[in-house]
Amino acid sequence: MQCAMCGREITNPDANYCDYCGTAIGTMTYREEVKEPQKVSEPKEERVSTWLLFGVMCLPMIPLVGGIAYLVILFYWAFAASVEDSRKSFARATLLYTAVTLVLGMILLGSFFALIMNTMSGVL
Ligand SMILES: [Zn+2]
Repeated sequence: MQCAMCGREITNPDANYCDYCGTAIGTMTYREEVKEPQKVSEPKEERVSTWLLFGVMCLPMIPLVGGIAYLVILFYWAFAASVEDSRKSFARATLLYTAVTLVLGMILLGSFFALIMNTMSGVL
């Protein structure tokens, strides 16, 4: 083994310190281990990808669970603190859009919905 500080040969393999300059060998090794790729937590500013949006927009087409999952995801994106701003604003806009569409649909087709509900409750 060679001392990292003074370069002299250390004869005792169990030595913790260099006999010549007193450098702690264990510490040197430890520092080199620490030097390994440090994971710098870089802020990931993920953009809302087209495919992700497409997937989310397709969710309501899945019977029963799709609509619920769709709303849950949108509500999570809209109000969770850890979600990036781009996704958050997208989710809020989509929720607003969905709400407006639903309300307008209810108003315009209220009687139609009522008729369907009556028919379905009769069938079920
Ligand atoms: Zn040394």
